[in-house]
Amino acid sequence: MAKSTRKGLLDRLRDGIVVGDGGFVFSLEKRGYVKAGPWTPEAAVEHPDAVRSLHREFLRAGADVMQAFTFYASDDKLVNRGNEAGKKYTGADINEAACRIAREVANEGDALVAGGISQTPTYLSGLGKASVQQEFRKQVDVFIKNKCDFLICEYFEHIEEMEWAIEVCKGTGLPVAATMCVGEEGDLHGVDVGACAVRMAKAGAEVVGLNCHFDPFRMLDAIALMKGALDKAGLKPYLMAQPLAYHTPDASKQGFIDLPEFPFGLEPRVCTRWDMQRYARRAFDLGVRYIGGCCGFESYHIRAVSEELVKERGGRSPLSSQKHEPWGEGLKMHTKPWVRARARKSYWEGLQPSTGRPHSSAFSRPDNWGVTQGDAELKQKHEATTNAELQKVFAKSAAK
Ligand SMILES: [Zn+2]
Repeated sequence: MAKSTRKGLLDRLRDGIVVGDGGFVFSLEKRGYVKAGPWTPEAAVEHPDAVRSLHREFLRAGADVMQAFTFYASDDKLVNRGNEAGKKYTGADINEAACRIAREVANEGDALVAGGISQTPTYLSGLGKASVQQEFRKQVDVFIKNKCDFLICEYFEHIEEMEWAIEVCKGTGLPVAATMCVGEEGDLHGVDVGACAVRMAKAGAEVVGLNCHFDPFRMLDAIALMKGALDKAGLKPYLMAQPLAYHTPDASKQGFIDLPEFPFGLEPRVCTRWDMQRYARRAFDLGVRYIGGCCGFESYHIRAVSEELVKERGGRSPLSSQKHEPWGEGLKMHTKPWVRARARKSYWEGLQPSTGRPHSSAFSRPDNWGVTQGDAELKQKHEATTNAELQKVFAKSAAK
């Protein structure tokens, strides 16, 4: 086992770059361990080997952080809309198992362990600050017990709920990173993205940024707006980006959730490893120091980020790069000469990949229903969605 220096998050950010990992629920759903719809992480208890091996892939790809697989593991989410997970496990059971697995793999290298919390059905239902914070506190207690190195508040669509989350996390004394899943248009209550950044920093988050919902390039455009607002307010948190690995130039306010291909038809939009090198460079140039990924990111995407930033990371290249020559140079060993001709940066850098789908168009039309917290339709409940309720949304969808 590598000797761990276990330098903390803030020291690492001060001295260089922190590479994050990728999106576990999306990745494990495709492997058959997570159910699309609730997107809850009971696999941490049911299939620890699957979770462990995904962590290990990201570690080998150069990730400096093992985010414990705790996404949506709040008690209210585990019982929402007929989700059976809450009948089998408490949020504490899942968070506990997830922390243990993340620590085990982190110790195989020099990675940090982060515990994460995200938006809650309790907030969407308008049940108020005390109830929402109670859900967070139950999760954070487990992270403290398991000695997580820092906390991440991620995937919040409303700055108000994000502030409540940061407040709970600040109570622990651990460093807090905060990322919202919004874009250039700001949060779902109409707060602009720059103001969101300022409010996250003022709430005490040392690391501020965005995750999920948008592709790397649109996300960086939004982070540039955040940076402008933070500079103007004289605030200097570290910046963080964990985007999708799907191209979303046509997404509207709610990002890829609004695209008709979400979540089962997104494959034609997957970013290449070369897209990710471009992302890593652009993020670094913008001043982003925590550079990772979210849904759609597989370990090879993170490897691409690590490879692009080898120099900035003190010459440290990821373990999995032993099987990957920079810019496809391994292809010079290919048997066919026209493939050997692709063993160079200029080829992959300039490639415009085809989709192979003669009837596909470049853009889709987002759903854009404009429903958000405060709307009766977003009131969450324990009972499964009824057939009558389903017919109603089918009809609304058809009428669009
Ligand atoms: Zn995501």
